[in-house]
Amino acid sequence: MGSIGLRVENSGMTPSQGNSQIRLEPLHKKGQHLSEEDLEKQLSRLSETNNHCCRCCGLTRFLKLQKAWFIQDPCGIICAVLTYVLLVYGVIVTNAVLLFPLELDLYSSINGVIFNTLGFLALVSHIKAMMNDPGAIPLGNATRNQLSQLGLKVGQVVYRCPKCVCIKPERTHHCSVCKRCIRKMDHHCPWVNNCVGEYNQKYFVLFTLYIALVSLHSLLMLLIHFISCVGTDWGDECAYFSVPATIILMMTLGMEGLLFSLFTLIMFCTQLHAICTDETGIEQLKREQPTWTKKGKCLSMKAVFGSKMSIDWLNPFVKPDIGSGKDLPYMYSV
Ligand SMILES: [Zn+2]
Ligand SMILES: [Zn+2]
Repeated sequence: MGSIGLRVENSGMTPSQGNSQIRLEPLHKKGQHLSEEDLEKQLSRLSETNNHCCRCCGLTRFLKLQKAWFIQDPCGIICAVLTYVLLVYGVIVTNAVLLFPLELDLYSSINGVIFNTLGFLALVSHIKAMMNDPGAIPLGNATRNQLSQLGLKVGQVVYRCPKCVCIKPERTHHCSVCKRCIRKMDHHCPWVNNCVGEYNQKYFVLFTLYIALVSLHSLLMLLIHFISCVGTDWGDECAYFSVPATIILMMTLGMEGLLFSLFTLIMFCTQLHAICTDETGIEQLKREQPTWTKKGKCLSMKAVFGSKMSIDWLNPFVKPDIGSGKDLPYMYSV
């Protein structure tokens, strides 16, 4: 996606006359060139073409979302629904076949609480990652009039996205699926039908962590159950369903557990590496020289999970206190 660089030039007005006379001249452009008139036309089309967030239902209040955000991408919606189907399938089969085939005992009670809690946290993390604004820049904040009111310094260079007609702060990238510029965009993930950016990375990391844990826990119980059933020649405790049905359910659960745990563990480690090196997936891919001051591991973790290290880091119901975006000053690429 091309960005247009703008250099601020003073038109000779004194400072007391304000910044309204600052002249913005195109410095360089990559890709598509748009004149101011083109940008105005693009601005009027934005509400029709951009993926909308919707305000709906009590779910947003339950999940403590300030506003619901939902990307209307058919591929992403299918992937997200598939994720729920697989998660629910895994939870039902684990409960029905491995935990509570006959009667409640200490083993199944403790493991049942741990397993279902992890499954619930994974589900909440997914919904929060999907329905949270990942850090979208307000649309249309880079028209000539608005730029001239920003109080930019002479010689300062700002970048704007011709598609969103917005100023692109440092480390912001335009996502063609979300049709928005996203702060610290890491990647667009179809499995959560959203971008992973500055404001929802915590939930995405927790989603990968809890899915990995719930899958590994299920695999461990599967192994114990299998050994026990083989030892008792598929006796009563293994025969809630017929033996062939039990074996098929256990095999599909095993395959799902292996795939999920492998995929999410890799994703979790990749995300942790990106956070610790203070470099998003896109930045790693582009191998650009960082123009920002890299934070240390601890500060980077706090920037994603919250300013105070606590158990809240693992709680998907707690929004990390990293600002809402509106109160953060823009950093311009210079
Ligand atoms: Zn954009
Ligand atoms: Zn996106």
